[in-house]
Order: sequence, then structure tokens, then C-alpha cells
Amino acid sequence: MTDTDTAVASRHVPAGLPERIRHYIDGESVDSADGDTFDVLDPVSNEVYVRAAAGKRADVDRAVAAARRAFAEGPWPRMLPRERSRILHRIADLVESRDARLAELESFDSGLPITQALGQARRAAENFRFFADLIVAQVDDAFKVPGRQVNYVNRKPIGVAGLITPWNTPFMLESWKLGPALATGNTVVLKPAEFTPLSASLWAGIFEEAGLPQGVFNLVHGLGEEAGDALVRHPDVPLISFTGESRTGQVIFANAAPHLKGLSMELGGKSPAVVFADADLDAAVDATIFGVFSLNGERCTAGSRILVERAVYDEFVERYAAQATRVRVGFPHDPATEVGALVHPEHYEKVVSYIEIGRTEGRLVAGGGRPAGFETGNFVEPTVFADVPADARIFQEEIFGPVVAITPFDTEAEALALANGTKYGLAAYIWTNDLQRAHTFAHAVEAGMVWLNSNNVRDLRTPFGGVKASGLGHEGGTRSIDFYTDQQAVHITLGEVHNPTFGARRAEEGR
Ligand code: NAD
Repeated sequence: MTDTDTAVASRHVPAGLPERIRHYIDGESVDSADGDTFDVLDPVSNEVYVRAAAGKRADVDRAVAAARRAFAEGPWPRMLPRERSRILHRIADLVESRDARLAELESFDSGLPITQALGQARRAAENFRFFADLIVAQVDDAFKVPGRQVNYVNRKPIGVAGLITPWNTPFMLESWKLGPALATGNTVVLKPAEFTPLSASLWAGIFEEAGLPQGVFNLVHGLGEEAGDALVRHPDVPLISFTGESRTGQVIFANAAPHLKGLSMELGGKSPAVVFADADLDAAVDATIFGVFSLNGERCTAGSRILVERAVYDEFVERYAAQATRVRVGFPHDPATEVGALVHPEHYEKVVSYIEIGRTEGRLVAGGGRPAGFETGNFVEPTVFADVPADARIFQEEIFGPVVAITPFDTEAEALALANGTKYGLAAYIWTNDLQRAHTFAHAVEAGMVWLNSNNVRDLRTPFGGVKASGLGHEGGTRSIDFYTDQQAVHITLGEVHNPTFGARRAEEGR
């Protein structure tokens, strides 16, 4: 057997894969108007396992028309929040009951380790449950001006929301947008990432079974520059919620500008983990290993730069490198696997090219190549570079793989300058037992989200989003409700109308 044969033979191919991945428009599974398709590969063999419909403008037009009709004429935006909430809870129940199948498909399509894909499937259910609860507890402001006016907020769904999502944890990230967009009474067109279209195809069946009315959910597969772009430029789509690369965010921002659309953008990151000498080093090593190697390092909030105070630097690097070497790379379907296969050969090439750059910029202390026994497929060893200077490309640029840069610092001011010294500002992780420093550093760091002595775990009520090149606007909890609704202010006079009369008849005219 050749090495390629070994990888192909060892991969797990789920039973019952679809013969073709299609769009879902107005309650029907359909091909592209022009019949075009694109190849979908699995990341262990890099072989085409299915073809997916390649949506273009005509398909997006159809999907938007269906969503618009469902918004203008259908029951969804007019239902009581409790009625919508019930359907959302049913969706959550169905996702939970299918978590193993979802994880199996997601892991096969994306290369995520199966145990982590299972966690993401459950999180997807939780996203629906959370917004199902939030929408019935929603309160809006009312203001009384005694004796004169009552003002109140009439919150309304906006219309057709365009949802554009990336390939890392695809199903969960889709749920993160679908949950609040639907809870608030909008109708949607989802354009999932072209590398990982498989799990998105499960939404249609789940929504039909849960009782979501026809036309409320529409799905168009395809390339970003075609299907995604058509959605961004569509005049009948007033909202775009986008998660993806910062560069793509800039393009979408420009293309949406002529229509003055509402935009929510969750973009890239190069988040620092700052370890002070007084930190609990055991916890810091564990957390910073997990922070960059979980989800194959394909995680927007990955702590991919570790800044370590000089007094503990050598010890930290030594322990970190030893532990990184023990992180278990394996086939995505193996429950013992900690790092699986990167999503696609194009992405694999990108990550490997950064490892080559890193060899000239830092000191390689772990990994740096293919793991033994995985001669094909998109497998990369957990890779650690130490002594990385702040102007290195592997310090500045998002790699989005299992690669980390470690850099020493001497003072708190230097740590802050290093932490803030990239264009990104998504997350920051701070490890110190000095309570005051933990908070002052957190307040000064340029990041949308900060974790103090803790790992990347967040309550769904908290704001989610980045600053600088990492995003625009915040979602999460009530902020998502705000993004997907208009808050119309309604004013009514009590008592006498405050009504200055312009153009009043003059006394002499009246005579
Ligand atoms: P990407 O920007 O290449 O693609 C994201 C989506 O945008 C895909 O569906 C793609 O088809 C579509 N797209 C591409 N070009 C488009 C265009 N011109 N018009 C409209 N749509 C277009 O990102 P990716 O490689 O799929 O995902 C990885 C990136 O996502 C990383 O940078 C990561 O940090 C980021 N990310 C951010 C968050 C966050 O919450 N901040 C979460 C997950 C991922």
C-alpha cells in the first residue's frame, strides 16, 4: 500500500452521505439555475467526495425573493415571541438529538477532532435555546414625560438577513447567526463556507421538522466571490452578518456601502496570552496549549502569541514545548485525537508556508512538520516558535493553524505594547495573581474580549466581538437582538399638544 492508500484506508467515511449538496430555496432542495457545481474534499484523503451546487446571482435572487415573500406575507414576523420561541426550542431539541450524526459529518468534512465537533454541535443547540429564551424575556424601553408625553420602543424585525459564515466550526457559527436572526422574526439567506458545506445541508430538515414556515430559511451554497458577493450587493437584503477574514470583511464593507446596509463583522485575530511570573504556571501552560491547538488552531480567538515574563520564560518555553510535543495528532474520527486534519489543502499550504517563514524568524522548539505516520492529508504537528520578535510575520499575521509564537518581556509596559502591537484586537488572555494588575492590564489591552486566569469559555449573555481589524459591532445576548431589529421610537402627547402654530392668521387678516 502507498502512503496515500494508508490515509484513504484509515479515514472514516460516514454512511449515508448525500450524492449532491443542493441549495434550499422556498422549502425545496434545488440545483443551481445554471447547473454548475464545485468540488468538496475531505481533509484526510483530499479526494472529492461530493459536488455541491455553485450558487450565482440567479440563485441568490431566487432565495432572496422567497425570503422577502415569507417576510412580507408569511406568519413568521407576525407570530407572538412565545410561538417563535417554541419552534426555536424544537430546533434545539432536534440538534441535540442528532449531535452524534452532526459531529460525525462535521468532523469528516472539516477535519475537526470528533470530540470537539460534538462539543460544537451541542453549542449550536444551546445557541437556539438561548435566543428562544431571550426573545420571550425581551423588554423594551418606555419613557414618560409627566403630563406631556409617553414614548416607547416598538421593536421590529428588519427583513431578509444575509448570513455569511466561515469554515471553522461551520455548523456552530451558522447557529450563532441563525438563532438571533430567526428569533427576532427576520427571514434569512445563509451562504455557508465553500470548504465545508456538508453540515449546513442538515439545517433544512431540522427546520422543516421543527415547523419553521416555508421560505423563512433559505440556503445558497457557492463561492464567496459569486454567491456571497451577490448576497452582499442585493438591494433587498438590508442586513449582512459576516464572519470570516478581515480582508474579506473590507471587501464586503465596500460592496455593501452603496446600499448602506447594516453590517456585523466578526473578523480575524492574533490574540495574545500574557503570562506574568506570578501566575499559576501549570494552569497557564495547560490553557495556552489548549488555546492555540484546540479546534486544530483554526479558531478566531486562538491565543496564538504567548508573551512570557523573562523570570519564568525559559521554564515556560521548556514545559510548553514538551507538552506541545505530546499533543496527539490523529484521524479526526478517533476520540483520542486532539489535533485533526486542517480543513483543505489550500489552507494546509498556507499554514506550512508560515512554518517555513517561522524557521527564519524564531527558534523552533516543537513540531515544524508532518507528524510521523501521516504522510498525506492536511496533518501538521503542533508547532512552537520561541524568541519571536514583534516585527516577525508569525507574530503579526493570522496563521489559523496549530502554530504559536512565544516572546519574552521584561516589564508590564513592554507586555502591553507587545500585546497591542498588531492590527488585530479580538481576544486577550492574562495570567497573573496580582488582582490589580489583572484588571488594569485588561482595561488597557486592545481586545474585544479578555479572559483573566481562565480559558476561552463565555456566557452567551456577554458581548462577543473584536476591535481594530478584528471586527465591527458586537453580537452576543441582547446585542444580537439589537442588530437584527429596528428600534422604532413612538411618541404620543398626553394632555395639550405642544404645537406652535406657524403661518397663523394675523388678527388684521381675520377682519
Ligand atoms: P473567508 O473570509 O475566506 O470566508 C468567509 C465567508 O465569506 C465564506 O462563506 C466565503 O465564501 C465568503 N466570502 C469570501 N469572499 C466574499 C466576498 N467577496 N463577498 C461575500 N462573501 C465572501 O474566511 P474563512 O477562511 O472561511 O474563515 C477563517 C477566518 O474567519 C479567519 O480569519 C478567522 O479568524 C475568522 N473568524 C472570525 C470569527 C470571529 O468571531 N471573529 C469566528 C470564526 C472565524
